[in-house]
Amino acid sequence: MRTPVVAGNWKMYKTVTEARHMVSEMVPGLQAIKGVEKVLCPPFTALLAVSALLEGTDIGIGAQNMHWENAGAYTGEVSPLMVAEICQYIILGHSERRTYFMETDTNVNRKVQAALLHGLTPIVCVGETLEENETGRTREVVSRQTKQGLVGLSFEEESSTGINVIIAYEPVWAIGTGRAATAEGASAVIAQSIRPALAELFGQQGAQSIRVLYGGSVSAGNAAEFFAQPEIDGALVGGASLKVGEFIQITQSAAL
Ligand code: PEP
Repeated sequence: MRTPVVAGNWKMYKTVTEARHMVSEMVPGLQAIKGVEKVLCPPFTALLAVSALLEGTDIGIGAQNMHWENAGAYTGEVSPLMVAEICQYIILGHSERRTYFMETDTNVNRKVQAALLHGLTPIVCVGETLEENETGRTREVVSRQTKQGLVGLSFEEESSTGINVIIAYEPVWAIGTGRAATAEGASAVIAQSIRPALAELFGQQGAQSIRVLYGGSVSAGNAAEFFAQPEIDGALVGGASLKVGEFIQITQSAAL
């Protein structure tokens, strides 16, 4: 049994003041939900304020990106050491970073290795573009991103309870579009491309221990369909994670 995870990716939304308001409203509802790993991923500027509000709760916090070096002359970047002071999770390789900030599989891999060394749980995003989907390349792309993102993890990075990595399957055409994948379609990509890629890297048992989430226009209306698929272990939620009631409802569906 893999514990479901519901993580909210706030993207570049919410000032510190707005974040404080939203989290204060959200915490009681989220706290009441058991059996789900709950994670909020605000922008860097709001991490400290949100982490203070989450203290003493069972809700985790994550950042949305980081550099792989511990320190250095990298203006505008944030290091794993800095993130690990505040967070337990880190979103890596989001398609918006791959598209707008030229993030490559190689750099995602460096970041995954750095995250694990610092005790952070990476949420590694993979997913095909619309063009790749329409030209029948989904399996190839998703498998490559999974393998190249996670290759070369050393044994110490795999904890005794399993491999401390979460994958988010996020078809790029489904992100922020209101056009979600079908639950069956997402499940098939996970079963036919992501788990086999994980099995190549970590063996069957390792592959079965890793949580694979779906992301892309998840809403209160469709979340339960995704979570009913045995291959789908939760969701990475963008837009709907900024709506208190809806995010709570989505999280609640993962607990059922
Ligand atoms: C995301 O940002 O990872 C995401 C899935 O966004 P949305 O839920 O808005 O499609």
